[in-house]
Amino acid sequence: MADPALQLHVVERRYRQGEATLDILRGADLSVWAGQSVALIAPSGVGKSTLLHVAGLLEQPDGGDVYVGAEPTASLDDGARTRLRRTGIGFVYQFHHLLPEFSAIENVMLPQLIRGLTKAQARERAGELLAFLGLGQRLTHRPAELSGGEQQRVAIARAVANAPKVLLADEPTGNLDPGTADHVFATLTALVRASGLAALIATHNMDLAARMDRRVTLRDGKVVELA
Ligand code: ADP
Ligand code: MG
Repeated sequence: MADPALQLHVVERRYRQGEATLDILRGADLSVWAGQSVALIAPSGVGKSTLLHVAGLLEQPDGGDVYVGAEPTASLDDGARTRLRRTGIGFVYQFHHLLPEFSAIENVMLPQLIRGLTKAQARERAGELLAFLGLGQRLTHRPAELSGGEQQRVAIARAVANAPKVLLADEPTGNLDPGTADHVFATLTALVRASGLAALIATHNMDLAARMDRRVTLRDGKVVELA
């Protein structure tokens, strides 16, 4: 089998809390392959966001390594990590974090312009992505003029604008009502299948998790596969 798109190898992460040390990740192993969607399900405070931040190269692990494609990342300097994160990894948060003064299509163009694409190239890809996500009629709307579900779909389009290999999402439908969450989720999984992304998605919603390819949880700082 090909290399995983994302691999956590005996990852450790701990936080100082005054005198105490919180060992959140204690040798976490996880592989996610291209085209695969994995649900990360665990109670609040267990370490889902920590794991996603380490997987997304936003935080350095205290031990172990994170491989993006076949590339180990622990020894990369900050510049190299940032470049790899920009092109290799997309991130979706619970809150959309779209730029309020820009339109939907401009929000999706921005990461591509930062990468160095021309405006025409960025606009074409952004338009295609938004159309795939059902937002073809909302290109020039600003975030405040969009519904919560539409805002999250724009945030998903922005996350994959640079065609990353890996998509990480931290409770992406946590702020949405159940019907809207369902629709956003269906769109997200369709995108994962169509684009061959490897997706790791933290969620509390068991119905949504049941529709993903795999389910994992965190137990004693390790990743455990669920049925
Ligand atoms: P989850 O996303 O599953 O709710 P988190 O990964 O956010 O959990 O947090 C796991 C634990 O680590 C929590 O107890 C939290 O308080 C602690 N924690 C997270 N980030 C920090 C930090 N920067 N400094 C200290 N403790 C932290
Ligand atoms: Mg969290």
